[in-house]
Amino acid sequence: QALRSDADQRLYDGVLRGELRALAKTITLIESQRPDHRARAEQLIQVLLPHAGHAVRLGISGVPGVGKSTFIEALGLHLIEAGHRVAVLAVDPSSSVSGGSILGDKTRMERLSQDPRAFIRPSPAGQSLGGVAERTREAILVVEAAGYDVVIVETVGVGQSETAVANMTDVFALLQLPNAGDELQGIKKGIMELADVIAVNKADVDAKAAARAKSQLEVALHLMRPTYPDWRVPVLLTSARTGEGVAEFWDTVMRLWQMLADDGRLAAKRQRQAQAWLWEAIDAELKRWFRAHPNVRAALPDVEGSVAAGRSAPIWAARQLLAAAGIDRMRQHKE
Ligand code: GDP
Repeated sequence: QALRSDADQRLYDGVLRGELRALAKTITLIESQRPDHRARAEQLIQVLLPHAGHAVRLGISGVPGVGKSTFIEALGLHLIEAGHRVAVLAVDPSSSVSGGSILGDKTRMERLSQDPRAFIRPSPAGQSLGGVAERTREAILVVEAAGYDVVIVETVGVGQSETAVANMTDVFALLQLPNAGDELQGIKKGIMELADVIAVNKADVDAKAAARAKSQLEVALHLMRPTYPDWRVPVLLTSARTGEGVAEFWDTVMRLWQMLADDGRLAAKRQRQAQAWLWEAIDAELKRWFRAHPNVRAALPDVEGSVAAGRSAPIWAARQLLAAAGIDRMRQHKE
């Protein structure tokens, strides 16, 4: 496949050589909402894809203040020391809702961000969670093509973003606070069920509280259906500040990753993720096409008004709009 322009060819070559500028530019292209940028980005992703897939993809989540960025910096520095190249991406849909981001700005991970063996990219802004997730999945492929062999995707412990990140990574880790009371810090059961590894962070502050949180979490985990019959979710004690437990955390992540890689479960998981992504992309594109259809745009205000006023049943109105776009019930394919 030939790329459309010399500029894109240079981006492609630059990414494969691991050049930071080319990498940053390619991801900027991916995050752009301009149709011509999207077209170029999608073509670049397609040609980079054969060079992607070699990294360990790790999701990390936890409530604001639990120490995610401090932890990821400590982990990243540990990994670089061990010879890895580390990319850190983020999924923070809050920035599209509130205009501000929960994960914060680029002053975070100061030491890691200055190291040429690390690449840190904040969450794409101004998009829905679905859009942010899709852009981040694309960015994973690009940083892998650029030679990063560990990709960490960070997300906040609120809302649906954990599910999105768990669905784009190999292993999903949850950071927990030691001191947030006995009711498991209000973490939703659904989020704990996503976790492959749990770390009680800030264990340096109060070792007793951390140990208590650990046993509470272990009890809670015991009542849950395990994701893998041969993997009991470990609860580790860590301190992002002192670095205690960070190496053990990584060893634990790799133990699971290797186990899944060895017997084909990792490949199967990634296949399922890619197929789910296909359908999400189809859904998103169909919806975009539909909303942009001139007949739909013309009819929409009346139809929406009539649904809001209770004059039209939503399904009736939906049929009208679909018919306006040429999607006619009578001409639908047989299932
Ligand atoms: P995030 O919002 O989850 O990214 O949390 P941050 O990494 O920004 O950390 C929030 C605060 O907790 C900062 O002041 C950190 O210095 C501090 N912090 C993070 N990890 C630890 C830790 O392991 N021990 C202690 N004592 N403080 C920590």
